[in-house]
Amino acid sequence: MEITGRIDEVRKQVKEWRRQGLTVGLVPTMGYLHEGHESLICRAVAENDKVVVSDFVNPIQFGVNEDLATYPRDIEADKRLCEHAGADLIFHPEAEEMYAPDFSTYVEMQKVSEGLCGKTRPTHFRGVCTVVCKLFHIVTPDRAYFGQKDAQQMAVIRRMVRDLDIDVEIVGCPIIREEDGLAKSSRNTYLNQEERKAALVLSKAIFHGEALVKKGERDADVILGAMKEIIEAEPLARIDYVEMVDADSIEPLTKAEGRVLAAVAVYIGTTRLIDNFIVEV
Ligand code: AMP
Repeated sequence: MEITGRIDEVRKQVKEWRRQGLTVGLVPTMGYLHEGHESLICRAVAENDKVVVSDFVNPIQFGVNEDLATYPRDIEADKRLCEHAGADLIFHPEAEEMYAPDFSTYVEMQKVSEGLCGKTRPTHFRGVCTVVCKLFHIVTPDRAYFGQKDAQQMAVIRRMVRDLDIDVEIVGCPIIREEDGLAKSSRNTYLNQEERKAALVLSKAIFHGEALVKKGERDADVILGAMKEIIEAEPLARIDYVEMVDADSIEPLTKAEGRVLAAVAVYIGTTRLIDNFIVEV
């Protein structure tokens, strides 16, 4: 496995693989890799001849008061996980390699990026779309792998790929959880012992909401009300949103119908965590 911080080196490697007729998968990440990321990498390894993992804490997807400076980083551990999972190349650039001092072109999306996390993080998806678009141009993958953990991000990326005619297949992968249910996240490392316990209200609410839909409940207010009740019972938790939307358009739903995404964002202390379920009704 190779690691490089240079765009021209990635291009050179991918060109060589293309010359050999090999397929290429891309797994975009912000590093501090865990089993959630690993599941994406393993899937990519199974479905492609070569796999590139990008490991880049993308500054432009963080808001001014967000955790860019403190976002956890451990490139040595990331290398070990990627190597173990069978990746071929890690792309680990400095911000300066990705963004020239006079960088001035952004991918801006309407609607899909405006609800849910877009409300609290108004510039987040502009940063995500811009960096993922750049990664698609640098790596030119046949397939790119994203986790359902970030369900709105997946909808946003699918829409960008469709709207901008980017020639890549987007593969969605299920949420990987801790044994007790908490969705794995690099940000879980911010939680102290008490907060870690309190954070279980997210997955509890998600499992309960999903069970209600599966039992036949269709009224969004009833489902979301029951989920909120679980979260509000935890004193360390503060709800950012608990919503039900169409999983592709991110338009709010009053009835569970079609491809339903129920998503929550909750502050546990100062740490903002997200979780969701998607069901076809
Ligand atoms: P991040 O490093 O948080 O930007 O995540 C990189 C990719 O890994 C995104 O596509 C995430 O959705 C995915 N991912 C993060 N956590 C999980 C998880 N617990 N299960 C599945 N995929 C995940």
